[in-house]
Amino acid sequence: MSVTKLHFLSAGRCGVAASMLDTRREAQPLVSLPIWSYLIDTTDGPILIDTGMPDECVNHPDLFEAEGEETTIAPYMSEDDSIVRVLARVGYRPSDIVCLISTHSHFDHAGGNRHFKGPEVFMQQAEYDEVIPRIGEAHAFDFWSTGDLQYHLVSGDHEVAPGILLLSTPGHSVGHQSVLVQTPRSGNILLTIDAAYQAANFEDEVPFAVADPVLARSSILKLRDVAASEKAFVFYGHDTVQEQAVNLYPAAY
Ligand SMILES: [Zn+2]
Repeated sequence: MSVTKLHFLSAGRCGVAASMLDTRREAQPLVSLPIWSYLIDTTDGPILIDTGMPDECVNHPDLFEAEGEETTIAPYMSEDDSIVRVLARVGYRPSDIVCLISTHSHFDHAGGNRHFKGPEVFMQQAEYDEVIPRIGEAHAFDFWSTGDLQYHLVSGDHEVAPGILLLSTPGHSVGHQSVLVQTPRSGNILLTIDAAYQAANFEDEVPFAVADPVLARSSILKLRDVAASEKAFVFYGHDTVQEQAVNLYPAAY
């Protein structure tokens, strides 16, 4: 198996409190961020990274509102942003996917995982342990998580296939992982995912929404080393400046 192309797929947007991008700020206002899924074409078929938001978010920007609390997350999702439809636009059904890389369990990354019961789902063991055995008990909003997938659990860095390297980057979540993709046409691309929401988090160490700030910082330092040694282009999880330069499918990297 070898990588032929990397595609960027748009899977809707989400409003998040400005304080989640920079924890030194006041909570309001909401900032509209891009939600990404990534498709890697390989000689053995397509590999998907992340599945966007759950279908329950369609036309429900108020889904995560709690009475008497300030809104910090507002999904802006249409029916066309469901991962099944996103994939259909690029010619695939979920059953065509060779394997799914699930970077972490948050709703804007694993929201559509339930549609992928066939392929192997690569997840860090630590993320799985934190979420899947505890579905329905520990987390208020875990309705999108499911144990009913073909999980392929890994601990630490792991090569999924030549040119596709999972990098353990805990901190934003317990078992978060980033992905280094070595593309024939555009060189090495480091998808930080939510190890850094935006360039400021990565380059200037602006503090953002993470579960463990110490781990999150060491993960950023690790990714900086990888970016330098691999001469990789760094793409952040939810960067509103960077998104303006992204060429969506059918463009390829
Ligand atoms: Zn995210």
